[in-house]
Amino acid sequence: MVTRKKPAPAEPSGPPADVVEVQQRLTVAMPQPRCELDHKDAWTLLIATILSAQSTDRTVNTVTPLLFAKWPTPGALAAAARADVEAVVHRTGFFRNKAKAIQGASLAVHQQHAGQVPRDMPALLQLPGVARKTANVVLGVAYRIAAGIVVDTHVTRTSQRLGLTTATTAEKVEHDLSAKFPREQWIDIGHRLLLLGRYVCLAKGPKCEDCPLFEICPSHTGQVQGTWQDRAEHLRLALLPTEGADGVGGE
Ligand code: SF4
Repeated sequence: MVTRKKPAPAEPSGPPADVVEVQQRLTVAMPQPRCELDHKDAWTLLIATILSAQSTDRTVNTVTPLLFAKWPTPGALAAAARADVEAVVHRTGFFRNKAKAIQGASLAVHQQHAGQVPRDMPALLQLPGVARKTANVVLGVAYRIAAGIVVDTHVTRTSQRLGLTTATTAEKVEHDLSAKFPREQWIDIGHRLLLLGRYVCLAKGPKCEDCPLFEICPSHTGQVQGTWQDRAEHLRLALLPTEGADGVGGE
């Protein structure tokens, strides 16, 4: 069997991308980036986001309908038998830790916040299983509160390749991006960089020829044809089935 060597991942070799251009081009490509995790309110989004760690949004979306049908409120999920919850979330991986986290978070929401997911970062970070990424997803998507920028593996990779950060930890990447983009762009730029990383700026073999940021990216490889507007429009159309329901959870 012939095995083909994948192209080496791109590395920055020029000045950082202009953030105004990044914002402009990605806005054309993804006018309304949305969360791919199915949810109907802040609590269901919180639970889905916790489950998305080391998993895919698609996988999470296959378990949450049954999860929320069986236990439709924070109080109900908190009171469920652990083994039953583990069985439902099993296929998302790390199911014991995740069952414990979603029940712990639900108990705290039920007991300490009258069943309402808190709207501020410090309170969210007190919930079991919740770190900054999950808190930023909930605040940004459910409440449209720009407390920070969602940073996952895709956002980290695309930001590094664009020269927007050299950091390797999510917290430092978020700090660098927050300093470069105005606060009113924080919610959407995280989602846009995430979607770019998920569908174009792939970890192995980025599709630079399809990328609307090609001309301004210090890590681009290969050749490109057409205008960035053409590529942005192509990406917009390609994302249509997922944009509006896509986003910020797992891989
Ligand atoms: S896919 Fe786009 S952002 Fe990623 S390295 Fe290539 S040109 Fe840069």
